Parts: sequence; C-alpha cells; structure tokens
Amino acid sequence: MILPIVAYGDPVLKKKATDITKDYPKLKELIANMYETMYGSFGVGLAAPQIGLSIRMFIVDATPFADDEEVMSKAESDFLKSFKHTFINPVILEESGDEWAFNEGCLSIPDVREDVFRKPNIKVEYFDEDFNKQTMTLDGLAARVFQHEYDHIEGILFTDHLSALKKRLIKGKLTNISKGKINVDYRMKFPLMKKKR
Ligand SMILES: [Zn+2]
Repeated sequence: MILPIVAYGDPVLKKKATDITKDYPKLKELIANMYETMYGSFGVGLAAPQIGLSIRMFIVDATPFADDEEVMSKAESDFLKSFKHTFINPVILEESGDEWAFNEGCLSIPDVREDVFRKPNIKVEYFDEDFNKQTMTLDGLAARVFQHEYDHIEGILFTDHLSALKKRLIKGKLTNISKGKINVDYRMKFPLMKKKR
C-alpha cells in the first residue's frame, strides 16, 4: 500500500525518533509499504518519520544512482547496484574524511535541491529486517544516502544544513510546500493545507 509522504512543516519531521523492538506491530507489512511508497515516488531512500511514524527505521535503494557511471568508479557503481537495505535502530559509529558537497533532494521537500556538505566515510551498526545486528562501512554516495536518511530519524532535514542566506532564499518555497501549493505526482500530506468544508 502506498502511504502519503509527510511534507515539510509537519512536526513529525523535526522530532527525534525512538528505537523499536522486534515485536513492533506489523513490522514486515510496514516495511513492504515503505518500499512501495519509495518506489512509487522514485526516491532512493525513505525514513519512517516521512510517513508519519517517529521510529528509528529507514530504507534505501540506491540502484538508480548506479546508472550514473560517468560520475563514479566502476567499483562504486557496482556497490550501489546492490545497496538496497532496511536499517532499524541504526547508529553511526564513525564518520571521517574531508566534507564534500552533493546536491541533495528530499521526498518531503519536492522541487528543492541544494548542495549539502557531509563527511565521505562512515561505519554504521543496525538491525536488519530479521533483527540481526549488522555493521557496514560506507563511502561516497552510499554514505550520503545513509546520512540523509539518518538525519530524518534525528529530526533533521537537509535544509537545516544550509547557510542562513540559502535558508532565506528558499523560505517562500518551503512555506508553499507546507500549504500544499505545489505540483507533485505522488501522494503527500501537507501540514498547513486548508481543509475543504
Ligand atoms: Zn529526505
């Protein structure tokens, strides 16, 4: 089932999410619905707060990036081809390297893309769909996607990383998104949309 994606301005996106246990109700069904929702909106990642649930879980499928082979090495492209995972209660153990810029976007903030600086190498720990503990070392775009989604469960949006000037420049756009004054071709829920009587 495709779930509505919560738009910028909803308080759930600013809230630090909480860990879940393996007894979380209908977890498998929720994960399946999140994948369906992500694919339906052509996203490469989706975090639970974006569908209104303040829990520490997100999914990624960076396969579409792998087609962009001109901008990366064969090794990175091959890695991204299989970078499809469900991350439950993830923790970033290490973050290192010189920050690099990448033009990020977000399903909760349609039509806004801005350069965000992040460190390139991370080591993470998480539980998979069967609640087995895993560790993973990520770099480049895979790390980038993870960091963006991880921010969501911390209540941080990519726009929070922008300079004061950039924030001011996109303020009007963000307000319009909150009000639903935007054309988007996937299901969304807008916090400030006027209810029809
Ligand atoms: Zn996002």
